[in-house]
Amino acid sequence: MDITPVSERRITRQIMVGNVPVGGGAPITVQSMTTTKTSDVEGTLQQIYALAAAGADIVRCTCNERAAAEGLAQIVPRSPVPIIADIHHQYKMALAALDAGVHCLRLNPGNIRKPEHIKTVAEACGEKGVPIRIGVNGGSLHPDLYEKYGGTVTADAMVESAQQEMAYFDEVGFEDIKISVKASSVPLMIEAYRKLSDVTDHPLHLGVTEAGPPPNGLIKSTAGIATLLAEGIGDTIRYSLTADPVQEARAGRTLLESMGLRERKNVDLIACPSCGRAEIDVYDVANRALEAFGERKIPLQVAVMGCVVNGPGEARDADLGIAAGNKRGHLFVKGQNVAVVPEDEMVDALVEWAEFMHEHGAEAALARADTVKAKREADRDRDMLLEKQGDDVNDAEAKVDLIRKR
Ligand code: SF4
Repeated sequence: MDITPVSERRITRQIMVGNVPVGGGAPITVQSMTTTKTSDVEGTLQQIYALAAAGADIVRCTCNERAAAEGLAQIVPRSPVPIIADIHHQYKMALAALDAGVHCLRLNPGNIRKPEHIKTVAEACGEKGVPIRIGVNGGSLHPDLYEKYGGTVTADAMVESAQQEMAYFDEVGFEDIKISVKASSVPLMIEAYRKLSDVTDHPLHLGVTEAGPPPNGLIKSTAGIATLLAEGIGDTIRYSLTADPVQEARAGRTLLESMGLRERKNVDLIACPSCGRAEIDVYDVANRALEAFGERKIPLQVAVMGCVVNGPGEARDADLGIAAGNKRGHLFVKGQNVAVVPEDEMVDALVEWAEFMHEHGAEAALARADTVKAKREADRDRDMLLEKQGDDVNDAEAKVDLIRKR
């Protein structure tokens, strides 16, 4: 599939996180973070595999104690994706994570403050060819910067924090850097990333920190990340949700696919919002379809429509769809009716046709169908519904009259 970018991407340098390129025109990557104790090797690996299946290209694990570093040494060789160690406060944990073989470090300049410690870590990373993310966080800004900018977190303060850290790295000739300037305020993080993007060509990692539980956390993260991506800013993204991190990975992947910035990997399920014409519980059928497709690698757009009156027409651009009518499901491929199934078999039929189309293509799917018969059946159920419900099933005319009378 050809991808049309939403805008020209800003040119950044490229770094390698393990075998995954970040920046320099590489596909924008999705990150997430494990919530297990890193010392729990099996539990953490299980979560990493689930994150990778949900769309994460890179996964971060905390390295907050010696046992975590020991865990990383066993996790890294068995992980399906590159691993980043998250370091706060203790620079020695950064060195231990490097010994464990991690592919990247994330340092928070707000809490690893001694220049000699920062330089020691950068030198060790340089020797091993391991990049570092400078992870500035509005909530843990260096106290001096906080004071300098009037006791408040500003975009300039966050950018200056990143620049100070970069200057330490410069002194030891270390350039293998990506940067984030996250805040929990969406307008603040947008401003900070815009300013940062003006002063550096290092790749940028986007995120709204502490976004909270879904749906609000999803909305805030999307508002911040998508705004920047639409301006061509950002090379890798993370949703920070108070939820199972699998939701983070899925959200990141969905955002990039919906903006045309990554190729579709799984089914893109579209569904009508339902209305008075609906012949089925659209929410239930759509959710069951979503669950049935799960993480299957079927890159098709599949539609679930509540009625055969408008459904097939409204979803004619979908690869495959189903619309309900007269206790039956009317399947259509590229807008053409192909089969009729009992209402309780709608989800199974969608999955079966999607698998067939993925394997053999739309032409083969149309060729195996009796499209004339399927259209006749659909027209019959459509006419029957129109007869029963009329053109104005939501009773709009009567409601408008009622309102006028008031
Ligand atoms: S008219 Fe039919 S397809 Fe459109 S929203 Fe209503 S039920 Fe869904």
